[in-house]
Amino acid sequence: MKVFARTPVNLGEFKIPRGRVYLILERCKGCNLCIEFCPQQVLQVSEMTNEKGYHYPEIRSDREDACVNCEFCTMVCPEFAIYTLEVEE
Ligand code: SF4
Ligand code: SF4
Repeated sequence: MKVFARTPVNLGEFKIPRGRVYLILERCKGCNLCIEFCPQQVLQVSEMTNEKGYHYPEIRSDREDACVNCEFCTMVCPEFAIYTLEVEE
């Protein structure tokens, strides 16, 4: 079954928020939940490890401006290791 979506006629009245991601490196346990739940695919697994030996998330180079400050990553992180702040434009 096909599903048709339409662009809301008043879309121009809404401003899409932008966020900046902050990570508290030493708290991360490399569970990747933040990466999997990000609806904007902003995050990826870093090749680097923190002092506990876990691969922490990093911003994808091709998605640097894609964060919409939805805070899903913050909500799912079991270690309170990641958060975002809205960027004023
Ligand atoms: S705030 Fe939302 S869009 Fe931004 S990195 Fe977290 S989950 Fe992704
Ligand atoms: S959800 Fe938290 S602990 Fe898990 S990888 Fe992301 S920042 Fe690290």
